[in-house]
Amino acid sequence: MGNIVLKKVNKSFGATQVIPGIDLTINDGEFVVFVGPSGCGKSTLLRLIAGLEDTTSGTIEIDGRDVTGAAPAKRGLAMVFQSYALYPHMTVYKNIAFPLKMAKMDPAAIDRKVKEAARVLNLTSYLERRPGQLSGGQRQRVAIGRAIVREPSAFLFDEPLSNLDAALRGTMRLEISELHHQLKTTMIYVTHDQVEAMTMADKIVVLQSGNIEQVGSPMDLYNRPDNLFVAGFIGSPRMNFVTGTLAAPYKAATVGVRPEHLALSRDTGQWRGTVGVAEHLGSDTFLHVNVDTIGMMTVRAGGDTPVAHGDTVYLTPDPARIHRFDDKGKAIR
Ligand code: ADP
Ligand code: MG
Repeated sequence: MGNIVLKKVNKSFGATQVIPGIDLTINDGEFVVFVGPSGCGKSTLLRLIAGLEDTTSGTIEIDGRDVTGAAPAKRGLAMVFQSYALYPHMTVYKNIAFPLKMAKMDPAAIDRKVKEAARVLNLTSYLERRPGQLSGGQRQRVAIGRAIVREPSAFLFDEPLSNLDAALRGTMRLEISELHHQLKTTMIYVTHDQVEAMTMADKIVVLQSGNIEQVGSPMDLYNRPDNLFVAGFIGSPRMNFVTGTLAAPYKAATVGVRPEHLALSRDTGQWRGTVGVAEHLGSDTFLHVNVDTIGMMTVRAGGDTPVAHGDTVYLTPDPARIHRFDDKGKAIR
């Protein structure tokens, strides 16, 4: 089981309040991602759950048990860090076996568990190597293996992929998602990268300055952001925003349109502009258009869109995909 409930959890460091009081329920088996900009309190929240930091007030329950004052080792959770924290002089086998050996488990049982974890993580042929003889991705898998053998009720990951290059991050993202399908254990994953949040999460928790801005599935947040912050944070390229008199016809203080919901025309449309930089990705082209009286807008067009710097184009938002916000930045529904 891995049910985790936070009730009014508050954390201050001295006079500085970092987490102002959070209520959050994480259901058994869920893959939950905490996402938000650097410094918003993601690691602090994860460390509070792990027991590596004490709460200032509020309670944390795991499977109905109040663990607010419990030591990390008594919470039944396993944490995987960005810096793999492997023992360099030990083989992969010994690194994975380490927590079980510390717990004085029977060697035959240790052997079974280590081999099973290695099988799940495709590390079977690397068990006799030392960490220095492994790639970054393999080392990260060893760190995960060491967590798996403890059979935690939840895995906690703090930006585990940020040391890896872009291609490897993509691969590891898939591997961790696949691992979650196999183990079906609760996973809490911290990242500042909204792409990781969108692609991996069952449930995303968007944080800003220690506050929860919105909780929902990836497509909920994409389709129905509750406020300007979530609208601008989730989705890539970022949502375009129009304010002032141009938003007034929509009865909103701000109107948001995603780059993929703007139609591009040579001849006619709602907003006229001049093409600036065109980013050709092959599959898509991201056009940065300087729209009269609005400013820069990003449009997602087809890979072969034949436009050049300086061309005049017209943009028309899909009326069904327009997001409206009031003067406090809250979504109008
Ligand atoms: P994130 O992981 O989202 O980047 P953190 O949880 O690490 O953010 O930090 C949130 C805020 O708490 C930051 O402003 C940071 O400076 C502050 N903070 C974190 N740990 C400490 C600490 N031990 N003492 C004082 N301030 C801290
Ligand atoms: Mg952090």
